[in-house]
Amino acid sequence: MKLLDDYNFENKKALIRVDFNVPLNEDFEVADANRIEAAKPTIIKVLEDGGSAVLMSHLGRPKGARNPDMSLKHICAKVSDIIGIAVKFVEDCVGDEAEKAVQELQDGEVLLLENLRYHSEEENGDEAFAEKLSKLGDIYVNDAFGTAHRAHASTTIVAKYFEGAKCFGYLLAKEIDAIEKVMQTGEKPVLAILGGAKVSSKITIIENILDKVDDLIIGGGMTYTFIKAQGGEVGDSICEDDKMDLAMDILKQAKEKGVNVHIPVDVLAADDFSNDAQTQVVDVDKIPDGWQGLDAGPRTLEIFKNVITNSKTILWNGPVGVFEMENFAKGTISVGNFIDQATQNGAFSLVGGGDSVAAVKQFGFEEKVSYVSTGGGAMLESLEGKTLPGIAAILA
Ligand code: AMP
Repeated sequence: MKLLDDYNFENKKALIRVDFNVPLNEDFEVADANRIEAAKPTIIKVLEDGGSAVLMSHLGRPKGARNPDMSLKHICAKVSDIIGIAVKFVEDCVGDEAEKAVQELQDGEVLLLENLRYHSEEENGDEAFAEKLSKLGDIYVNDAFGTAHRAHASTTIVAKYFEGAKCFGYLLAKEIDAIEKVMQTGEKPVLAILGGAKVSSKITIIENILDKVDDLIIGGGMTYTFIKAQGGEVGDSICEDDKMDLAMDILKQAKEKGVNVHIPVDVLAADDFSNDAQTQVVDVDKIPDGWQGLDAGPRTLEIFKNVITNSKTILWNGPVGVFEMENFAKGTISVGNFIDQATQNGAFSLVGGGDSVAAVKQFGFEEKVSYVSTGGGAMLESLEGKTLPGIAAILA
């Protein structure tokens, strides 16, 4: 009993932890409603069963203070629009007023609680606060993947008060499913494409993933630490000299585990970190002083294309170039196109963690890959092999 469909919500109040931490514009209107849309199926299921929904979320970082700029009342109209009924709002998330609003809530109605992080107890994972939250529903539903890596009161601790009455919402279940497909049950060959700026932020992921994949593409700024470690000349490219031993160790481990590692062979180098810089394509291990590699080169992209289109399961984390600058976005766009091709040929593709999601959205690949994760940090920790506390609390 851990999935939403295991429960019938008729005459029940569902206490749903959603991730409504959405961006607001200067008029305090929702600037991007994706996260609200993403929670809709779970809320609708509860209502269609004949139950009511109590929604709790954080917004921004008020750090325990009642900062009116971060009130969830700003988003209430948008939630009403998206759910299709007038959502009620209560100006606290615990205490008498909140309890009264929940008691008065009728089947088929939705109540939005005020920002959880107006109380510092939320982020502290406070037991007494979690117990107060637990009074606001009969069944606890966690549908907030974006905060599942935090042991906060509403994401984790509250679950213990719902023995036999707690489950994952549809969105969280989809995230768990996508990660499992890549890390455990994916059809071979399994490929991970890891890009981004620094080796240091991806080490744990690389080490964990070596046991799961057949192929590993290393791209972006990480490339140069690997190339320099092997004796190449990387010019002024981003490079972590203190991580060169680690890079060599990763290559050794990959070899022992039979993982094929694909590192760029040529790059688009620039004489400045600027979109207007002079550029030239050079071998990755012969970058002249004064030049830096900012994107994958054409021969590299041919190799990447071959590997990607032959894979059946693909994880993509991190751009392979400085995609924010138009002149260095080609590599990242190409990788997106190759993944699109592989997906059309039946591969399962998951994009997640940090900037790859931004890149995917910017270039319109969202509809073309199998799944785009909604949680940056939570996704990274999952890929590192950690059990997320919010997930563990439902399974306990
Ligand atoms: P991450 O958050 O680790 O995925 O890193 C993403 C950032 O890496 C993006 O902002 C890219 O601009 C940056 N990046 C990718 N390739 C390079 C490169 N060759 N040199 C410098 N930064 C890069």
